Amino acid sequence: MAEDALATLLARLGRPSHGWANTPIVKGSTYLFEDLAQWRAAREQRDAQRVLSYGARGNETVFALEDAITALEGGYRSKLFPTGLAAIAAAFLAYLKAGDHVLISQGVYQPARQLCESQLSNYGMRFSFFDPRDPEWRKALMPETRMVYVESPSSLLYDMFDLPAIAEVCRPRGILLCADNTWGSSLIYRPLELGCDVSVMAATKYLGGHSDVMMGSVTARQACFAELEKASVNLGQTVSAEDAFLVLRGMRTLDLRLRRHADSALEIAAWLASQPAIRTVFHPALESDPNHSLWRRDAHGSNGLVTVEFDPGLDHGRIEQAIGALRLFGIGASWGGYESLVLPVDVRRTRYRDAAVPPGYLLRLHIGLEDPQDLKNDLSKLLGALAH
Ligand SMILES: *Cc1c(COP(=O)(O)O)cnc(C)c1O
Repeated sequence: MAEDALATLLARLGRPSHGWANTPIVKGSTYLFEDLAQWRAAREQRDAQRVLSYGARGNETVFALEDAITALEGGYRSKLFPTGLAAIAAAFLAYLKAGDHVLISQGVYQPARQLCESQLSNYGMRFSFFDPRDPEWRKALMPETRMVYVESPSSLLYDMFDLPAIAEVCRPRGILLCADNTWGSSLIYRPLELGCDVSVMAATKYLGGHSDVMMGSVTARQACFAELEKASVNLGQTVSAEDAFLVLRGMRTLDLRLRRHADSALEIAAWLASQPAIRTVFHPALESDPNHSLWRRDAHGSNGLVTVEFDPGLDHGRIEQAIGALRLFGIGASWGGYESLVLPVDVRRTRYRDAAVPPGYLLRLHIGLEDPQDLKNDLSKLLGALAH
């Protein structure tokens, strides 16, 4: 399978070897055995191998999605979680114990930060934040550092980090490198190929792709899978077969959707960059973006996320009133679905200490699958309302 392109894999992954084109939804808690010997054999195997034994450990539908994600991420095996945040929490709890330190890149998804600040600290795990672009960043490593956790591109402003260079520092020290790959969705950015040991995704976003399901995944290299499996079982984490089916169904069109999101987003980002009310457009596929060269080197495409900074001279109340003029952009959390969304963002919540923050009002756009000209016309109304 390895020689097939990802778009081809998407059409083949997680399917039964014969019969139904799609893996059916399997519902069940109890799995019945022929006799005690078979039951005993399954229990002996199940910590090392994937066998059907009890509903909480997964079923055919769940295994099909695990396999599809594993193949795309390029890992050994994956575990699924009811949300992306639950997947992040499981990754921390799987690999860290009291006294351990995790070094976290600035700009990570804010609830992950909060998880460290108000939960992990209760268990004696320590954390601190760093800017991976600082040439002196390795000074932030401590003797107790067991994991470096990065999100590249980062949430809200899409800062990209040199993952192969970070991996080179971590590997000889026995430090695990874990990435949140929600932006990359395993198709346009692949952290395990870039040297990471563990990749986490919110499948809620582009994998599901239709704003109708919550899901998280963690994919690990073989050397660190056993700890993940143990944490997942101990924490009682499992997902429903319906939800696994929905994500797998969404993934069939992942390549097609991402291309459309990315093409429309780039067109709209370039157009926004020429508007007098806009000071900065953040989108790594845009040539003017400071992350563009790393994006060219490490990413295989882009997506629908664009953040704009308005002219700092513009009154925030006026901007928010103008946002109210939008017809095609919904106001709501999340992104990665078929539809366009806007949400004001406060990057101070994702950055650390006094890291530079753009001074103007920041608005994150998710460019959906609508016709890009219609979206531009809608955004023109917002810009028009600010012009006079
Ligand atoms: C949305 C998101 C998550 C969390 O996913 P949920 O399914 O909403 O819990 C994690 N990381 C990033 C980068 C995200 O954008």
